[in-house]
Amino acid sequence: MARTRAHNPRPFKREKHDHRRCVTTALDRAAKVCAAKGARLTAIRRQVLELVWQSHRPAGAYDILAALGRKRDYVAPPTVYRALEFLRAQGLVHRIESLNAFVGCERPGEPHCGQFLICRACGRAAEMADGRIEAAVRRGLAEAGFALERPTVEALGLCPDCQPPAEAGNA
Ligand SMILES: [Zn+2]
Ligand SMILES: [Zn+2]
Ligand SMILES: [Zn+2]
Repeated sequence: MARTRAHNPRPFKREKHDHRRCVTTALDRAAKVCAAKGARLTAIRRQVLELVWQSHRPAGAYDILAALGRKRDYVAPPTVYRALEFLRAQGLVHRIESLNAFVGCERPGEPHCGQFLICRACGRAAEMADGRIEAAVRRGLAEAGFALERPTVEALGLCPDCQPPAEAGNA
């Protein structure tokens, strides 16, 4: 069901922020979410999650495989795919369909349906969960006779840091 919830009106972090904090917070939340569900956050799953969170740019399975290869002994691709599938099933990462890549979820453990804002200049993605957008998508597509299964929105544009100064701010 669509559910109106408070959302972050400025979902993009500044280009310069303490990203180590993002990673620590994400790993802490992941441990809590998995503990609450009785799911096992094994070493490899945790490591893949950490690699997804390496930046706010969505990471493809191959990027993660390559990064893992630099860090430890050979990991077979299916191991990485299974770890990603586990993380997605637990709501710890989202798959950005249009990029065939994954981003870490900012609010795991809370039911939500995201809108993903993808910056075409810096490649970062930010997640919003604005109930108004979701409701509008559901309503509009129902009127179009479409049997909607997932009202996720993936929008392409420029983040605040990448907009020319004149455009930033008059949102
Ligand atoms: Zn960050
Ligand atoms: Zn999310
Ligand atoms: Zn940007």
